[in-house]
Amino acid sequence: MGSKERSKDRKEKRRQEISLLRTIPYSDHQRWWSAKTVAVVTGANRGIGFEIVRQLAGHGITVILTSREASAGIEAASVLQELGLSVTFHQLDVLDKSSIEEFCEWVKEQYGGIDILVNNAGVNFNIGSENSVEFARMVVDTNYYATKNVTKAMIPLIRASEAGGRIVNVSSKLGRVSGKRNRIENQELREQLNDMETLSEELIDGMMCKFLEQVEDGSWESGGWPHANTDYSVSKLGVNYYTRLLAKEMADRPDGEKIYVNCYCPGWVKTAMTGWAGTTSAEDGADTGVWLALLPDQAITGKFFAERREIAF
Ligand code: NDP
Repeated sequence: MGSKERSKDRKEKRRQEISLLRTIPYSDHQRWWSAKTVAVVTGANRGIGFEIVRQLAGHGITVILTSREASAGIEAASVLQELGLSVTFHQLDVLDKSSIEEFCEWVKEQYGGIDILVNNAGVNFNIGSENSVEFARMVVDTNYYATKNVTKAMIPLIRASEAGGRIVNVSSKLGRVSGKRNRIENQELREQLNDMETLSEELIDGMMCKFLEQVEDGSWESGGWPHANTDYSVSKLGVNYYTRLLAKEMADRPDGEKIYVNCYCPGWVKTAMTGWAGTTSAEDGADTGVWLALLPDQAITGKFFAERREIAF
């Protein structure tokens, strides 16, 4: 068997393993959630976000499906309501601070708080091997800054509980620094990001500013940034390291008030984002996010996963 066939064989075995895992029900003692558990999913009118809502609601959780376009969100929610799932809709444009504020107010009034936040909303304007940075600011603002803004606004609403709150960030392997391909070239920056003593919000924000400055002045191509899907990779790198940083901050909270924060790569998924060219279904792409949101194991926080397996940042 050639190496290509072996790799195909491994992938197929893993796919079968994952679909088997999905059919094994959580045992009663592992179920920390109930119909009173509330989850919020951003950018959930379609694609992976929609599937995350469907699967979480399928586990008996009350899910708030959010989308920036009210009509698209209402329609998506009604599809799930017709299946008998406990899904409600509310508008949320993650780029709009007043929309975030208004959403938080509504959540407080309607539910008092939430238990799970899934930051899924994201954009990528390059398909395949294209690498334009024309929309770099929008990509960084949506994928990185908006994820951070929504998270900061929602943390005070995450209810204290023994099981702990959960935050799951939908990220990408393209945002890894330890991979040999497509990583940032600056070794010092890589080391600073990987060292919990030096990792900070200022460091990540500073990296975003430097990248966007170089996009503005046209020097980004020689800036040592990831060479594939550059703006998207930089934005997801920010998401990964913010996940790690926030997890550490949340782990310092007293027992009963902890929040477990993880991120994952859904694979290359057949959605609008990839021009429907991915090899993974939205259902499989959602699986690890749902698993992380429901994980009974509280030792897992600040980690990066793909197909339910931890991978290096
Ligand atoms: P889609 O393009 O199908 O979905 C993206 C979702 O994000 C849409 O609902 C979109 O809303 C929403 N969105 C974008 N901007 C905003 C905003 N400002 N406010 C609220 N919602 C917004 O893509 P996917 O389902 O594939 O992507 C979901 C996540 O998965 C993203 O974070 C993406 O980066 C990540 N991912 C996807 C991969 C893939 O192969 N597909 C691979 C790795 C990661 P609207 O319909 O209004 O545009």
